[in-house]
Amino acid sequence: MRSTLSDSSHCTHTTRRSFLKSAGIATAAGLLTAVPSPKLAYAAALTKVERDKLTPDEIIAMMKRGNERFRSGKGTQQDVLAQQIASAKGQFPATVILSCIDSRAPAETIMDLGIGDAFNARVAGNIANDDILGSMEFACAAAGAKVVLVMGHTACGAIAGAIDNVQLGNLTGLLAKIQPAVNATSFPGDRSGTNSAFVDAVARRNVELTMEWSTSARAVPC
Ligand SMILES: [Zn+2]
Repeated sequence: MRSTLSDSSHCTHTTRRSFLKSAGIATAAGLLTAVPSPKLAYAAALTKVERDKLTPDEIIAMMKRGNERFRSGKGTQQDVLAQQIASAKGQFPATVILSCIDSRAPAETIMDLGIGDAFNARVAGNIANDDILGSMEFACAAAGAKVVLVMGHTACGAIAGAIDNVQLGNLTGLLAKIQPAVNATSFPGDRSGTNSAFVDAVARRNVELTMEWSTSARAVPC
């Protein structure tokens, strides 16, 4: 998995809010070789004890390994019915993910996660606002998740719409939240929504700005 923007099957960026107890992000290579799999039983949902023992780096490593399985074309071993039963009386997700609504970028599938592993907030263009922040604060400060992951993707229609200044009902206001990323993206050449390279560059910057905005915004400390 690449640590920066990639196509719809790849994760993009990880960040942790200031209210999370965490260390810095290790390199993917180090994590992939040094950290044992914290979750080997795909038929079980995470228990509180299992989740609480995981470090943020181990959780990120788990998602990266899941992404590797997905990218390699290996079939998932997730037993979602067993996980649904196991999590019926309580959930102890390890992470909260902010991603786009794009049908080609389902975070759980891309990272081979099971039911009960992750909270997932999806909104076009993976932008954050107070409601998204509130959801993340619930996930982390109230429910115990240890990692916040912001995931963008290539060929994002919301990003292309923001670039081309699309006006459409309530979508207009949403796309306005992506405009700072359009303006902040240095790119030589065609800066239109039909240039896939520019769209992807803005998507990458949009993730970075979402992370910066989220970590500088008001947050409930845990
Ligand atoms: Zn998108």
